[in-house]
Amino acid sequence: MNAAADLKSYIRDIPDFPKPGIMFRDITPLLASAGAFRSAIDRLADQYRDARIDVIVAAEARGFIFAAPLALALGAGFVPIRKPGKLPFDKHSFNYELEYGSDTLEMHVDGLQAGQRVLVIDDLLATGGTVRACAQLVERCGGTIVGCAFAIELLALNGRKIIEPYEVFSLLQY
Ligand code: IMP
Repeated sequence: MNAAADLKSYIRDIPDFPKPGIMFRDITPLLASAGAFRSAIDRLADQYRDARIDVIVAAEARGFIFAAPLALALGAGFVPIRKPGKLPFDKHSFNYELEYGSDTLEMHVDGLQAGQRVLVIDDLLATGGTVRACAQLVERCGGTIVGCAFAIELLALNGRKIIEPYEVFSLLQY
């Protein structure tokens, strides 16, 4: 299985979740299929095989699902970004605005060494707020962002725009 069309058949569309008017792209059928999950990780790994990635950084929870196998495939480390109160050591925090209210993400201050080459990954790019917060945390630690990668990109929300000039790669577009 290689074509994006095949992979897309494993994404389930759920109308009006988590609230009316939202079309939720559910990745759980893709994860549940050994072949589709393997194909998604292989395709992400192919994209970055020659990029000399030192560390993959991802925010909980769905980002972790792609980050860990991709880190192993690329011979890279994995650094988690978490919601407040979860990380045990000294951390950087970044607060960002949501449609209603705000959210905070945290990363250990020693998660990265200055100059390390970083790939930021998440399951889905919507407005770009989450990945921008991750990128800010990486920059605070002195990491060099090589790119931002996603299983799914929602093109209409133009999340790429707010994370310029970082390079964006996505497996599936809607
Ligand atoms: P953003 O910060 O607006 O780009 O939203 C991206 C984050 O929201 C990701 O971490 C996703 O896990 C989550 N998300 C938003 N919409 C969806 C969806 O349709 N399916 C799965 N996750 C979503």
